[in-house]
Amino acid sequence: ARLFETDGVANPLDVLKRVYGYSAFRGQQQAVVDHVVAGGDAVVLFPTGAGKSLCFQIPALCRKGVGIVVSPLIALMRDQVEALKQLGVRAAALNSSLTREEAIAVRRALSRDELDLLYVTPERAVTDGFAEMVADTDIALFAIDEAHCVSQWGHDFRPEYRDLDRLASRFPGVPRIALTATADPHTRDDIVERLALMGARVFTSSFDRPNIAYEIVERDQPRQQLLRFLSRFKDASGIVYCLSRAKVEDTAEWLNSQGIRALPYHAGMDRALRDAHQDAFLKEENLCLVATVAFGMGIDKPDVRYVAHLDLPGSVEAYYQETGRAGRDGLPSDVWMAYGMADVIQRRRMIDEGSAPEEVKRIERAKLNTLLAICETAGCRRQAILAHFGEAHPGGCGNCDTCLKPVETWDGTEAAIKALAAVYRTGERFGAGHVIDVLMGTVNEKTERFGHVDMPVFGAGKDLPARTWQSVFRQLLAAGLITVDHTAFGALRLEPEARSVFRRERQMLFRKDRPSSGKAARGQKS
Ligand code: ADP
Ligand code: ZN
Repeated sequence: ARLFETDGVANPLDVLKRVYGYSAFRGQQQAVVDHVVAGGDAVVLFPTGAGKSLCFQIPALCRKGVGIVVSPLIALMRDQVEALKQLGVRAAALNSSLTREEAIAVRRALSRDELDLLYVTPERAVTDGFAEMVADTDIALFAIDEAHCVSQWGHDFRPEYRDLDRLASRFPGVPRIALTATADPHTRDDIVERLALMGARVFTSSFDRPNIAYEIVERDQPRQQLLRFLSRFKDASGIVYCLSRAKVEDTAEWLNSQGIRALPYHAGMDRALRDAHQDAFLKEENLCLVATVAFGMGIDKPDVRYVAHLDLPGSVEAYYQETGRAGRDGLPSDVWMAYGMADVIQRRRMIDEGSAPEEVKRIERAKLNTLLAICETAGCRRQAILAHFGEAHPGGCGNCDTCLKPVETWDGTEAAIKALAAVYRTGERFGAGHVIDVLMGTVNEKTERFGHVDMPVFGAGKDLPARTWQSVFRQLLAAGLITVDHTAFGALRLEPEARSVFRRERQMLFRKDRPSSGKAARGQKS
């Protein structure tokens, strides 16, 4: 905006060079910038690290008036405002963390047209007070960052985003640009519809992150497996995601005891300590940050070399976002996840026991199932991930575990029938451990007490090792043929679809789980 005022018409490429010191636009940045500078609405769906911020910052600097940026997190605003100030851009944020004096100073700057960019929360942007405040101010544009928050399909739904469609009616003629790194077709449609951006031009770029190597392993000794994964990296920083705060603490402590410098990060920690750990992670080159998903949004550390998941995320979007924090500098980076049957049970349980309305739970289950299919695929992981974002990839990427070391499959139809029969014959009252004992013909107190030793299924699965049966049950669970009843001590129950297996109408192709030698994708490449 200042550049508009001083130079009359500012040229975006000049701004890029003079303000940011970059020599050229990347990818479709220029197309977005030109479109918005000319007053058009835009929906920008670029992956993390693509450079979305410049897509609204530069138009704000080139157009008359202040650019209003709607951003969901105060911490995120603070970082962006700081970075902009360092570049000499007149940026400020209005949010609840300001003192009264600070807030007054921001309002004064706004009324004197002394701001190029103003960051606000969505709940503030839609108030009457805000509309009054900017009534006499020229507005260059509205940027709606993390726009996927408007959608229940997004992994980060925020009801406040729903009211942002008011900006369209209140400020007609002011261009609006919505940005996100989440681009599955459902979320995309929701953004366009809910934010009243039907007339906007949609900019998408490939979501492929070719420098990221994907690997998903069957969990058996997670700590040892994690240690082997981490041993690939020397003088590199990365993130280890865990589901619970307690596991974050335990894992960090254990890694330190194994000689790996690790710090915990989760929302239950003291604020100052948490910030200190985040700062250390941003600055240091050889640090493992063990975190819950509370960590990450808006973090711009280009040289994160690895991201490990000790627990399954809830959706492909979440997995993509979290793994996407690796390798923003474009250099080879590894992402790794240990996954097992317990994850399927736990995630399904979290959905079942959650407070969301049934329609949302249905969405969550569908999203989880898509991620499970990616975990269990014998095909290219990258192809499966991108397919979820509506993007065709030929497969055979050469940079995921299944491509580097093709997964063998086996026809498990007979095994599946035996497994399902064992669940059925024992009355759908027992967990996988006991059912496997029955299949293996293990004589113990429980199999005797329930009379299972006398059943025809007892010992019917002796031809396969117990480990294979675990793998079979995990894959039956992931495929939705059985469920776990949390209200009955984890008893396995048959789903209606299991019938097609009994009738031999459905062939079951199972992954052959690898022995956990820990041979890593990267190790095999070199
Ligand atoms: P996103 O919001 O899409 O995740 P950012 O806007 O944070 O990405 O940009 C990621 C990084 O790339 C930042 O460090 C940014 O300064 C840098 N960057 C963006 N555009 C360019 C460009 N045209 N040339 C060089 N670096 C760029
Ligand atoms: Zn692949």
